[in-house]
Amino acid sequence: SSVDVPGGRRVLLAEPRGYCAGVDRAVETVERALEKHGAPVYVRKQIVHNRHVVDTLTERGVVFVDETDEVPEGAILVFSAHGVSPAVRDSADQRKLHTIDATCPLVTKVHQEAKRFARGDYDILLIGHDGHEEVEGTAGEAPEHVQLVSGPEAVDSVTVRDEDKVIWVSQTTLSVDETMETVRKLRERFPKLQDPPSDDICYATQNRQVAVKEMAPRCDLVIVVGSRNSSNSVRLVEVALQAGAKSAHLVDYAREVDPSWLEGVTTVGVTSGASVPEVLVRGVLDLLDEHGFGDVESVRTAQESLVFSLPRELRPSRVLKV
Ligand code: SF4
Repeated sequence: SSVDVPGGRRVLLAEPRGYCAGVDRAVETVERALEKHGAPVYVRKQIVHNRHVVDTLTERGVVFVDETDEVPEGAILVFSAHGVSPAVRDSADQRKLHTIDATCPLVTKVHQEAKRFARGDYDILLIGHDGHEEVEGTAGEAPEHVQLVSGPEAVDSVTVRDEDKVIWVSQTTLSVDETMETVRKLRERFPKLQDPPSDDICYATQNRQVAVKEMAPRCDLVIVVGSRNSSNSVRLVEVALQAGAKSAHLVDYAREVDPSWLEGVTTVGVTSGASVPEVLVRGVLDLLDEHGFGDVESVRTAQESLVFSLPRELRPSRVLKV
């Protein structure tokens, strides 16, 4: 299907890639808060896990903090896309902070599931990465009922109170295949294990992995644009390698692409994580072009159109016609 170009070099560009609806909303929330209230606007944790986004917002007057006690009383505090536990909300209230919630609605959905099954006194097995902010937030909804299962190798050490009342839920940005393997092993131990009411791994995570799987077997090298602490971006590197890419690397910026990676390479696949602005992908494509990879072919496996509305207080006020 490819056009012959000198040396046969070409780029396959995965679609969908980059910004998801939750990231788009979270970044716009901070931008609108800056416009409305002026700097400084405080944000608890990185608004989304991308270095460029955080650096750019910092230049514009956003102050990123780790915890609410670093924020002056009465100031504006945005909660990041990854969500927060009730304990964090309480501590923000105690400091009389004006909070704006940029939690992705698809993360909030998992929180609701955790709360609902905790009310039913289930043991809730939360599949996710230890220490990730999203997992801390979700687990914090029902600390007495939730236990973390970090992957297939952690299944053997799980214990539950009543094998008839066990449900699994998950972090939104996991590898679909690895999560299914974890669930399979959990179900071997607990045959009555219930599935969550709907997929917790979000549409954006799934779509980006499907596109990479399609593209990777044709690639000598896959470049994933994304930050090291971005769970869904790191998964894309793993998925690319599992799906047959000869090599795969994660970069924040084009300048991190090592020219030696391109030696002897004919086809380079490019994609980006859900927190990555498209300008960074353009940078990588420009760099590849300079190395003779100017022919770009898209590999599209889905079309995305989901948009989330902004937190109510930041929505543009409607103009009334009189
Ligand atoms: Fe929401 Fe998924 Fe994007 Fe996370 S990756 S912000 S869960 S849409």
